[in-house]
Amino acid sequence: MKITDVKIFVVNPTAAEKFDGIGHLYRSGGVNYVVVKVLTDEGVYGVGEGTLYASELAVVSVLKNFRELLIGKDPNDIEDTWHFLHRSTYWRGGPIFKTAIAAIDIALWDIKGKLANMPVYQLLGGSCRKGVLVYRHADGRDLKEVTDNIRKWLEQGYKVIRAQMGGYGGSGNLKFEPAQREGLPDITYFEPSRYLIEVPKLFEHLRNELGMEVDLLHDVHEQLSPIEAAQLAKRLEPYRLFFLEDPVSPEQKDVLAFIRSQTTTPIAIGEIFCDREQILPLFVNRLIDYIRIAPLHVGGITEARKIMAIAEPFGVKSAFHGAADLGPISQAAAVHLQMSIHNFGVQEWTDFRSIQVFCDLFPTPCEVSGGYAYPNEKPGLGIDFNEELAERFPYSPVYMPQIRRIDGTVHGY
Ligand code: MG
Repeated sequence: MKITDVKIFVVNPTAAEKFDGIGHLYRSGGVNYVVVKVLTDEGVYGVGEGTLYASELAVVSVLKNFRELLIGKDPNDIEDTWHFLHRSTYWRGGPIFKTAIAAIDIALWDIKGKLANMPVYQLLGGSCRKGVLVYRHADGRDLKEVTDNIRKWLEQGYKVIRAQMGGYGGSGNLKFEPAQREGLPDITYFEPSRYLIEVPKLFEHLRNELGMEVDLLHDVHEQLSPIEAAQLAKRLEPYRLFFLEDPVSPEQKDVLAFIRSQTTTPIAIGEIFCDREQILPLFVNRLIDYIRIAPLHVGGITEARKIMAIAEPFGVKSAFHGAADLGPISQAAAVHLQMSIHNFGVQEWTDFRSIQVFCDLFPTPCEVSGGYAYPNEKPGLGIDFNEELAERFPYSPVYMPQIRRIDGTVHGY
């Protein structure tokens, strides 16, 4: 059996229409989803995804290079293909190469499932649970609006909710400046002091309104310094967070040992990590409780499965990245993998199935009900890609939000 072609697509359905649940990604130009179709000489094909928000065309360039290397190779040899592509770059690793490898890897698992006539999670060892627990995002301009939005998710059966007030940085966002040119991002000016005061007040309010039982989490999005992060994690401890996400930037990950010495608030980090060498110290030094990788950004199902196996003896669970900047094929890969691993925690969720254009472009996104997601029982990943329809939603440039401190110093998003 041989690979005969790798077709590469970029599709941006979110730029053309407005959707609930896509949030700021719609306002900033949408998401360019990178999709591959790996074709074979036996007619079976696999779909994969290589989306890397705001750097999509860099991944496309690598995929064009991979295409030439892959034609003629046996699609059955997933492990060999992973190492072959990884070594073929010479530079080995980083988000662009790992995302491109993931696109191919996910497609090859889809092919293998179709050949075996089994859903991918069965090939990975079968089911460890009845479904994949997911969490949704709730935001709002004030305490009441955040509380009301959490209640809406709870009424729909969701059990874990991320609570923000005023987006990332929240009340620390003191000023907004419109972009200099159409299409570029606005500038937000952030200072931590008010944010550090207001976030504990938010969770105090939420616990008073909702009780202690509902599982709530919060994403700092790397906005704080090490000592500020420790202060916040400690102040939030009485409100029993499911986890505090990205309290510091990945560059400051060693300081998590200090933060953990100050508080038992669970810590999740890792959504921009792509190499196992970055992640391993988090496990062996026992710095985190949840690892936020996505299979899409670490090299696919093959590598994410190994990373979670390494995490298992250290008691670290998965909390895979799954905002709308990752598409439905990536989501399906994550769901199949997390059905089959013992140390699953929670999956960040975008309900693509509730948006018609995603159902038409990607028949059929994973189903969610009662707060749990379920893999499709069809052979492979159970999802397809409508390449004819994709022509209606071409690439359009998107940029990351820009953040500065009030004195004009560049700050991280
Ligand atoms: Mg995050």
